Amino acid sequence: MQYDYVIVGAGSGGCSLAGRLAERCPDATIALIASPKRAAF
Ligand SMILES: Cc1cc2nc3c(=O)[nH]c(=O)nc-3n(C[C@H](O)[C@H](O)[C@H](O)COP(=O)(O)OP(=O)(O)OC[C@H]3O[C@@H](n4cnc5c(N)ncnc54)[C@H](O)[C@@H]3O)c2cc1C
Repeated sequence: MQYDYVIVGAGSGGCSLAGRLAERCPDATIALIASPKRAAF
């Protein structure tokens, strides 16, 4: 599989970047890579 953009980290920054890219480039393929759960603070 090929992607135009790969965003590593589905945190607040990654999700908002993915949202903006999807708005501006609806035909772009975006892969949002989440990490395993982090330890609780
Ligand atoms: C306890 C606490 C309370 C807070 N309260 C507030 C608040 O009330 N208001 C406010 O404005 N801010 C608050 N903040 C700050 C806010 O959470 C951060 O500033 C903001 O989340 C940073 O966004 P980010 O996208 O840079 O990082 P994050 O939101 O942390 O996202 C980073 C993502 O990358 C992932 N990741 C990391 N390494 C990898 C890897 N190797 N591979 C794949 N994924 C990876 C992580 O799992 C995470 O999902 C708080 C922070 C903490 C710790």
